[in-house]
Formats: sequence, C-alpha cells, structure tokens
Amino acid sequence: MTALEVQDVDVYYGRVHALRRLSFSVGDGEIVCLLGNNGAGKSTTMNLLSGLVRPKDGAVRWNGMDLATAKPWDIVSAGLIHVPEGRRIFSTMTVHENLLLGGYAVRDRRVVDQRIAQVYELMPRLAERRKQQGGTLSGGEQQMVAIGRAIVGGPKLLLLDEPSMGLAPLVVKQVMEVIAAVNAQGTTVLLVEQNARAALKIAHRAYVVETGTVTLSGSAAELARDARVVEAYLGA
Ligand code: ATP
Repeated sequence: MTALEVQDVDVYYGRVHALRRLSFSVGDGEIVCLLGNNGAGKSTTMNLLSGLVRPKDGAVRWNGMDLATAKPWDIVSAGLIHVPEGRRIFSTMTVHENLLLGGYAVRDRRVVDQRIAQVYELMPRLAERRKQQGGTLSGGEQQMVAIGRAIVGGPKLLLLDEPSMGLAPLVVKQVMEVIAAVNAQGTTVLLVEQNARAALKIAHRAYVVETGTVTLSGSAAELARDARVVEAYLGA
C-alpha cells in the first residue's frame, strides 16, 4: 500500500525554483532513498513533508493526510517524524534526557519508557552511555541519539536527512544497520542521502533527484548497477 505520495510538486523560495514537478512515492514498510547532490532539493523535500515548506502546486498525501496544508505539529503527532540534517541533539543534556525529549508529545509515560528500552536494545552503545552528555559523544553516537529520539516519538514514517554526513565509513555502516533494523521492526523509512553506496545497500527503492526533479528511479539493486548512477554517485 502506498503510504506517501508526492505528485508534481513545485516549491519556490522567492524566485528560486527548488522543486520542479517532483513526484515519488513510499510504500508501507519500505525503505526508499532519495539520492542527490548538494542543492538537489533533498532538504526542501524533507521540509515539505514536515509541513515547514509549502508547495505552490502539486499534491502531498500521507495515509489520508494532506501534508500540503496540515500543521507541522499535527504531522508529527500522526507519526511522521523527521531527523534533520546535522543531528541537533542537546549537547548539555545526557543521552537519556535527549531520548526522553523524543516523547514530549506522547501522553503515556510508560509508552515512552518502553520505547527508550527498545532504543537501548537496538543500540546497546547508547545504553552504556545513557548518563553521558550529548556534546561529548562521537558523531556516530550523536546520530544514533537523533534516530533514537525519533523512535521514542513512535514514528510510522521516519524521515532521515543525510544520516551518514561527516561519519567514517565503518560508522556509516553501523548507522545504516540501525536504520535497517528499525525498518525490520515495522517503521517505513524515507532516507535522503548523498552517500549512494551506503544508502543503496539498505534501501528497497531509490530515486535520483537533480535540480529539484526525479531523473531516475528503480529498485536499489537496479540503480546500484545503472551506469549513470555509478558514474555520478558511486565513483569509479
Ligand atoms: P544539501 O545537500 O546541500 O543540503 P539539498 O539537496 O538538501 O542540498 P536544498 O537545501 O533543498 O538542497 O536546496 C534546493 C535549492 O533551493 C538550492 O538551489 C538552494 O540554494 C535553494 N534554497 C534552499 N533553501 C532556500 C532558501 N531558504 N532561500 C532561497 N533558496 C533556498
């Protein structure tokens, strides 16, 4: 079943035409990746889905909700949770306090505690560091806290904006494994990445986005073999 449908969307920042007839979909249970270089429109797409950027034209629907008009707060409450680029965890708060913040919209404290326990099970390294201040964690650990905090919010659709950014290859691999595990537990994932090599390993399908529009799409396996993708995103 299609969970998310973006259809012929145009977004402008003043005169800058950032998204041009952008169309893609994400099915329930999938990991879908949007691949693109700097300025392709990846962050704009994430902000569009979170209700922070509004389309001039086109449709954005998620499980019966019109994301083109819905309020950001209602979108989060419905379970569409965005892990922004650059992680943005609270550096003077502990790992545990950062995770608790992910549950701010969840009424039942027991649910929050259960989800935090689930995060610690999924990422034992965070359990070991639960009392450590966010700012003293490595980049990979901070990324894991950012993902963990989103999990505590109870995501149905998790939006991840460049989770591999600035991380060493081995750490990227660990972060991707966590994302695959979250998906295996039933969360649908939309992953935005410049790191095609890492993203295509865990994605089911992918779209290549260039200057605000989709130029290629297919299964992750197909795209990983596509000569144009290999040349532009996978290197020699
Ligand atoms: P990056 O990987 O560098 O973050 P991106 O693929 O996420 O890039 P966007 O940040 O979505 O790309 O930007 C898409 C286009 O819109 C770019 O040309 C960018 O310069 C432009 N843009 C983004 N935000 C604004 C803004 N607030 N005002 C004007 N132009 C903007």
